[in-house]
Amino acid sequence: MLQISFWILLLSIVTSATDTIYNCTCHGHHCSGDTCTGNACFVTEQMLENNEVFRVRGCFDNHITEQCNSKTSFLEARCCYSNFCNADMTIYTIIEEPALTRLLLVTVLPVVLFLILAILFTFLFWKLRRKSRKKSLARLIDFGNVDIVNASTVGDSTLGDLLDDYCTTGSGSGLPFLVQRTVARQVTLVECVGKGRYGEVWGGTWQGENVAVKIFSSRDEQSWFRETEIYNTVLLRHENILGFIASDMTSRNSSTQLWLITHYHENGSLYDYLQRNTVNPEDCLQLAASIICGLVHLHVEIFGTQGKPAIAHRDLKSRNILVKSNKQCCIADLGLAVMHSQNGDYLDIGNNPRVGTKRYMAPEVLDETIRTDSFESYKQTDVWAYGLVVWEICRRTIINGMVEDYKPPFFDVVPHDPSFEDMKKVVCIDQQRPNIPNTWCLDKVLSALTKIMRECWYQNPSARLTALRMKKTLNNLKNLLGQRKQEW
Ligand code: ADP
Ligand code: MG
Repeated sequence: MLQISFWILLLSIVTSATDTIYNCTCHGHHCSGDTCTGNACFVTEQMLENNEVFRVRGCFDNHITEQCNSKTSFLEARCCYSNFCNADMTIYTIIEEPALTRLLLVTVLPVVLFLILAILFTFLFWKLRRKSRKKSLARLIDFGNVDIVNASTVGDSTLGDLLDDYCTTGSGSGLPFLVQRTVARQVTLVECVGKGRYGEVWGGTWQGENVAVKIFSSRDEQSWFRETEIYNTVLLRHENILGFIASDMTSRNSSTQLWLITHYHENGSLYDYLQRNTVNPEDCLQLAASIICGLVHLHVEIFGTQGKPAIAHRDLKSRNILVKSNKQCCIADLGLAVMHSQNGDYLDIGNNPRVGTKRYMAPEVLDETIRTDSFESYKQTDVWAYGLVVWEICRRTIINGMVEDYKPPFFDVVPHDPSFEDMKKVVCIDQQRPNIPNTWCLDKVLSALTKIMRECWYQNPSARLTALRMKKTLNNLKNLLGQRKQEW
């Protein structure tokens, strides 16, 4: 139907004429050759349903103007007036373009758009990641600079809470290494507060707050490694364990400086404290109970992500225990500690040639019968030493107005700096134990502590009390005394 009306219109166009004659290109069913002559050259175009153009070329004779302007919904005609001017003439060329454009729109554009979006997203993602990295780094530095020291003034637990943020993976109790380093390099040393066997301890300040800096002598490098390792691999935050802040190794003038930065306790060690102070039975119990709490925390293995291996101290003594301002103690100096995990029965003795303090050595250490492959053995030597520390505290406790001078354990049977052999003779061969004054049985606390001490000093290590047992006994005693006080 469409085709028929097309040919009728075309025929009427072809039969029209004007005066001037032109040679034109002829292409279509009406042509008798490739050319024709007429008063105008024309081209007609019809857009077919499949979007193809059906094009016819030829010559007009009459009624040019009328035919040339003809345009129906299916056919359009154009004329031109020169020889073969219709040879390359088209009408729908501009109509064909949108088809191409549409093709481009459908195929290429989505791909281009997708690429642009992908690049945009990648860029945004990269920017956001950089920003969040910068933020978390700033948080770390900020944490190192401000929070940690503030926390040290408001108690260990707050510091512990803050540190928990950094220990969610259970990777350790310390700050990230970068922050440790930042902190360490901002510390100002003020005065030397203690000399251990292997180095010096300085009081220092960091952003106006007090910290303690233990500077290890290079010959005790292994102790620094051990303490740093234990503090960084183990969740040791506990109010009765010295609070660790940072560890740092610097190289100055071709020598290595090893620092360990911890909370500062102005009362110094229990040894220092007992030289200067006497205590009442209540304080005595508080000191002894807090040490055993710290020791239990060391000895116990905690399972889970926030867990810790069991740790034995191996150099427990009054010089390695610090007295906090609330008259609770915290255990320090983990340079000789050993770690044990039930998981695969893993025992980590470290690589430290240092040995414990002879005066505090248990009989099995002195006669070298200790089972060095068993972790229990090391805990049992801690228990022996704990008994000696409690004895030192008890001597400085006032009962009925009476008190002893400060003396170290075995002061009356060995020389000032006893040798291994001196100690062995007293403890293993003569099986001597520190003297218990009669007055101690007059007091509830001291008589309970005496009983505990004796059970720490059994020659047979496995007969000794465990730290956990002692903690429970002392807690019961504390509760009992608390109740009595209330009744009064
Ligand atoms: P070493 O491994 O050389 O024995 P310690 O850690 O035992 O070192 O410390 C030696 C002495 O320094 C302690 O006996 C104590 O007097 C003092 N000291 C150690 N740490 C602190 C601290 N955090 N605050 C105050 N005094 C400390
Ligand atoms: Mg020490």
